[in-house]
Amino acid sequence: EVRTRFAPSPTGYMHVGNLRTALYTWLIARHGGGKFLLRIEDTDQGRLVEGATQVIYRTLRQCGLDWDEGPDVGGPVGPYIQTERRSLYGRYARLLVERGHAYYCFCEKAESEEPSDPFERHDDPCRTLSPAQAQARADAGEPFVIRQRIPHTGSTTFHDVSFGDITVENVTLDDQVLIKQDGLPTYNFANVVDDHLMGITHVVRGSEYLSSAPKYNLLYEGFGWEVPIYVHCSPVMRDQHNKMSKRHGDPSYEDLLEQGFLSEAVVNYVTLLGWSPRGAYAEREFFTLKELSEIFELGGISKSPAIFDLEKLKYFNANYLRALSPEAFYAGALPYLRRAIRSEQIDLKLVAPLVQPRCDTWLDIAPQVDFFDALPEYSNQLYCHKKMKTDEETSKEALELVLPVLEKLGAWTYDAIHDALIGLAQHLELKNGRILWPVRTALSGKAVTPGGAVELCQILGRDESLRRIRRGIA
Ligand code: GLU
Repeated sequence: EVRTRFAPSPTGYMHVGNLRTALYTWLIARHGGGKFLLRIEDTDQGRLVEGATQVIYRTLRQCGLDWDEGPDVGGPVGPYIQTERRSLYGRYARLLVERGHAYYCFCEKAESEEPSDPFERHDDPCRTLSPAQAQARADAGEPFVIRQRIPHTGSTTFHDVSFGDITVENVTLDDQVLIKQDGLPTYNFANVVDDHLMGITHVVRGSEYLSSAPKYNLLYEGFGWEVPIYVHCSPVMRDQHNKMSKRHGDPSYEDLLEQGFLSEAVVNYVTLLGWSPRGAYAEREFFTLKELSEIFELGGISKSPAIFDLEKLKYFNANYLRALSPEAFYAGALPYLRRAIRSEQIDLKLVAPLVQPRCDTWLDIAPQVDFFDALPEYSNQLYCHKKMKTDEETSKEALELVLPVLEKLGAWTYDAIHDALIGLAQHLELKNGRILWPVRTALSGKAVTPGGAVELCQILGRDESLRRIRRGIA
């Protein structure tokens, strides 16, 4: 059975790269009819962030990535939080010590998790301590770490789905720390132990772990465990040369939602960063998560880095916004409409459909509709429109003719307003634009509006429309 895991460190943010890893991991499990696990990797106590696990839960839920086993839902191979598994890592590390694949190291900088220079480490005196000597020092209370004993000869080969076979000389690998002085495991050790104990079949993670993969393989060998299928994903880049990074202000998943993107659009776009459908779907861009789970296959993962392009994401998002039902669009748009339009006179249900085809993100709504709330300052230059053959004079004349017609209008409905304005143009034997352009600009103070003169009249209501038209003549 396929079993995959998403194993984030709780850092408080879901980077786009992390989200993509989660997606691929989930898609492999769902495509294979297997299980998707969530494991929280919190052994680096220095990096812990309050509330970070909640961000992970929230993000996965919003994206539709449900997990079958995890800290909150439990499961047969828990606990699913690494600090709750601490006693277990020591046991497995000691097993490796007994088998000669690891050793106690008492050196000064022993607690450092930084990879040590392999060539320096080769002279580590602790490597040659006898088990009895090492145990005696440990028993005497001397602080120590447990290091992996990498052979000084030979080479190690591992296989990755996208990168193929990679062979490295063991002499280039460092005796990495497995258990730190505080008794907690490093990522490098915990990932191997947990992936094995949790029955993980496919390990999906960032390509920054590629260089450590041979050391993981040596650990699997030392235990006599089967190596999982590795799927290392190339980084998501902000441009040709730089990875996306929080430090440089690149957006996290939650930042993107705040910037007005729909979760579904982000999920669709991020999945295609580094994976592409093949065969019958090769040219297609838009997929629901369910569709992706049906067609996702490992062979589509690319080993070249993908560039995160906000403009492309906007294109996806605009399409998703347009595809929403009017009700769903209104529901999503409401907070943004409310922020821009405080007036209770304006029926936001009428405004929403006008902006639906004109938004890349939710944030594009406010600047298009704020004139409903208050007429902005505008210059009479607005009245001049070559194609409509309008200028300040013809516009004011037109508005003077429009005013009594609208004042006399019985019911203030779309059709009544429409017929009145078009009727007036016909009566005067003028092109519609000669009437509609001045009305629209007088009502909005803008050259570009969602909706035309009739809609604006209808939405603004009789009193406000007449007030604005009078203001337009003055
Ligand atoms: N905790 C690691 C990270 O967040 C997970 C890497 C892995 O999936 O093995 O980078």
